[in-house]
This record gives sequence, structure tokens and C-alpha cells, in this order.
Amino acid sequence: MNWENMDVFQEKYMKCPIGCKYCMVELVPSRKEAWDHKGNESIGLNKTACFINRLPGGRSIDKWVPLHLLDGETVGFQGIQDPFDPRWEKDLKWLLSNSSRFAGVILTTKWPNIDNDIIKLLSSIRNVVVVLSLTGLDILEPGSTTIERVNLGEKLISHGIRVHGLIHPWIAGVSNIDWMATALKVGIKDFTVKGFRYSSRMKIDIPDKYLKAYKANDGEEILLNPPNIKSINLPRFQGNISLEEAEEQVRELSKLVVISSSSSRGEVLRYTIKRRFKDV
Ligand code: SF4
Repeated sequence: MNWENMDVFQEKYMKCPIGCKYCMVELVPSRKEAWDHKGNESIGLNKTACFINRLPGGRSIDKWVPLHLLDGETVGFQGIQDPFDPRWEKDLKWLLSNSSRFAGVILTTKWPNIDNDIIKLLSSIRNVVVVLSLTGLDILEPGSTTIERVNLGEKLISHGIRVHGLIHPWIAGVSNIDWMATALKVGIKDFTVKGFRYSSRMKIDIPDKYLKAYKANDGEEILLNPPNIKSINLPRFQGNISLEEAEEQVRELSKLVVISSSSSRGEVLRYTIKRRFKDV
């Protein structure tokens, strides 16, 4: 892995208030590139969604997000930081207010509380999913407990908002699913389980039998000894444009985006085209 220019990156990166001890945001080169080479704002692509990333104090979001290139897309917000961090409130409201023009919005969060105004806005929008990161890793996630997020899920569901549980990272021998019974009781029913990207820089107590396997895959995400639950893929939205239109949009978009995925550029662009055209 290439750790070059880490100091510059750390200076620019606005610390996430959750403070997970396994956070890789500053360590993943593709994320670092997003901040280093595209200035304060960037549109990041991975195989799931098109992420709008920015720092506070940048240009007004309306001035740089090319909405016509996002039509039919699944859009996320802040692939690098939490969408419900109050620092992003104005931008999040902008995105949500414009989202009816997109195929869908996915907001992945560990934020323990969401402002009532935002909940009201979320509940008024079709095609929005709040993905709650549920891990059972309270000791490693000092800014937010899993059960607080489950309680938030209950509140969102009571307002008619679609919620999905993302068990990510699953750290073998450290993560637990003690929260699962409560989650099911409050109506969170769909879960995705994803693995853990270990770095030897992390100070985490992992049982030796698993640590060996993580060390052997330093920097790569692996799913070890996962919980015995039925894992459902993250929600997908159906785009509404033709294949030709999708290809043209993505050709234009590809000139602006940063690929924030460990997959190849070609593969990410193929997924980007696929998820936005109407499959008839
Ligand atoms: S919530 Fe995400 S960005 Fe924030 S510290 Fe945790 S892993 Fe890092």
C-alpha cells in the first residue's frame, strides 16, 4: 500500500466525529486521491452509488454538482464522512430536496441522532434508504453506540422511512450481534454483512486465531467467521433512462469523477451505467 503524502492528506481531511478505531478513511489511497487531486469537492464513484463529497466552506453545491448527469443514478452523500453530521446539514437538505430527480438516495450512517427537520424531509421523499451501520463494536466506535443507532432506526421506521442494517465491518472475535433481537423487534429486517480491512497500524485486540488471517491480508477487506444471518444485498433503485442515454451520461461523468473503489475503473463505470438504465 502507498502511504505517500499522508501528512498533506491528514491536514485536509476533516476528522469524523464518530472516531472509529478501525477507520481507514485516511489510509485508503483511492479516498486520499479524491481529496488530493480534485480540490475541496469531488464526485466519487464506486460500485454501489455516486457519492457527493465536499468539505465545509466550498462552493455552493448547486454550482458544481451536474444534476443532469446524475439523473437515473443512485446517489450517496459523503462517502468519506457521515451525511448527518450537522456540518453537512445545508448540503444534505439540498440533496434531499433535489432527490426526486434522481433514481434513489442512499445515506449510510453511524450518526446516533437525526434532527427532526431532516426526518420530516426524509419521510417526504420517495426512493430514499437510510443504511444504518450496525456493528456491535461500541468499544471501537466511541462517538455512537450500536443500540443508539437501532433506536434511531425505530424512529425512522415509525416515520415511514426505509431502513437497512449494514453489519460492516464484521471483525471476527470482536464484533457481536447482541443488538439483533432489539433491531428485529423495532422492525429492522434486512441486513448486509461485510468484512474488515485490517491495517497493522490499528491498535485493536483481535484473538490470535483471526489476527493471523487479517495480517496475511493487510489492507484488503475479508469476511471471517460471519454471523449466521440471512444477508440481503443493499437496496438498489431502478434507473429510468435508456442504455444509450446512460452510456452518454457516464461518458461525461467519467471526466469529472474520482473512483473511490478498490475495483478497476472499467468495472466501476460498467456498474454505473448498469444501475441507471431501465432494464426492459
Ligand atoms: S464513521 Fe466512518 S469515517 Fe467516521 S471514524 Fe468511523 S469509519 Fe471513519
